[in-house]
Amino acid sequence: MRPVRILVAGAGALGSCLAVMLARAGARVTLADPGSLGANASGAAAGMLAPAFESLFDPQAPDLDLLRRARDLWPQFARSIGVTLDRSGAMAVGSPEELDAWEGRMRDLGVAAARLSPGQARGRSPWLTCGLGGLSTLEDWRVDAADALAALRAAAQGEGVRMIAAAVSSFDAGRARLSNGEIVVVDAMAIATGPSRSLIAAAPELGVLTPIKGHILRATGVDLAGPVVRVKGGYICPAAGGALIGATMEVGEDDAAIDPAAVSSLRKMAAGVLAGMADALMVAASGVRAATPDGLPLAGPSRRDGVWLAVGARRNGWLMAPLVAQGLVGGMLGGSADPLFNPGRFGI
Ligand SMILES: Cc1cc2nc3c(=O)[nH]c(=O)nc-3n(C[C@H](O)[C@H](O)[C@H](O)COP(=O)(O)OP(=O)(O)OC[C@H]3O[C@@H](n4cnc5c(N)ncnc54)[C@H](O)[C@@H]3O)c2cc1C
Repeated sequence: MRPVRILVAGAGALGSCLAVMLARAGARVTLADPGSLGANASGAAAGMLAPAFESLFDPQAPDLDLLRRARDLWPQFARSIGVTLDRSGAMAVGSPEELDAWEGRMRDLGVAAARLSPGQARGRSPWLTCGLGGLSTLEDWRVDAADALAALRAAAQGEGVRMIAAAVSSFDAGRARLSNGEIVVVDAMAIATGPSRSLIAAAPELGVLTPIKGHILRATGVDLAGPVVRVKGGYICPAAGGALIGATMEVGEDDAAIDPAAVSSLRKMAAGVLAGMADALMVAASGVRAATPDGLPLAGPSRRDGVWLAVGARRNGWLMAPLVAQGLVGGMLGGSADPLFNPGRFGI
């Protein structure tokens, strides 16, 4: 039997993971994306794999067990693509009242988290502003998003995936037209185009997506180590050569423009938590997440024949990418995709 031919539209975290896993499962894969590395939400992201603190801080976070299931696919997957997984954990900092409330909530969720005095919290994150206590967990991990994206693309090439620097303009009955004029004939197409609705004619389910723009700052020239530091409404991640400070959630916004007010609110948040951040050199970036009404991805078959979706992972696209891809590989190669993510669940 000839291998199944699959076109993946979009080479962000979801599309790239999917391309790698499909190729490893024996499909002949083409991956098309007009953009460059870092020019999408995946490249801008902080790369936190954070089931615990996402459950605590995001009222619309998916179920903790689901997030943990997604995270637990990472160690083996990261090894397979040569990406380092940072397992130094995360620490939420705040007032004693906030910490009391967060500690109680973590206990209810069944997350192992240690309460730290201000001195202990500073021991873990020496730049921390005096007087802030912490709540620390080793449940949350991190990858460097830009490194992971580059590694995924290298892994895809290594698995024989054909990469094309062009957009998919249309798809009908197994024929995809690309923006460079090429026609690609395949058995199926997976749409992993983030918040874009450019392929809505091929998959009407894309109509449920809402864009959520996010600003993030990269501070350079600071030597920050230790865990990710989280506060209500933000985080500071130690990163190669500095730190990442994020992130805004701007529902309905889908442009890339940098808003000085968003930059200033992130700077202010960081300076309030970590001494020295006020003077750090910072470069702003933005990305647009895609969200569904229930906060879960669309990952499964479209009602249009031969079309599949891998979109809508909201603010946990890196965390969810291997789980989404694994489910789709099953579905696209003859098994069944996870019904929880069924793209038809909103009746479109
Ligand atoms: C500031 C910020 C911080 C974040 N931090 C985290 C985090 O710490 N942890 C986490 O898990 N998630 C995080 N996220 C969310 C995460 O980045 C997204 O959920 C994830 O990157 C989405 O990946 P994707 O592949 O679905 O989409 P994208 O990364 O948007 O990729 C979609 C790709 O599709 C391409 N495309 C569009 N149209 C077409 C077409 N017609 N044909 C071909 N290609 C097309 C685009 O060029 C793009 O490359 C963050 C997001 C932001 C914005």
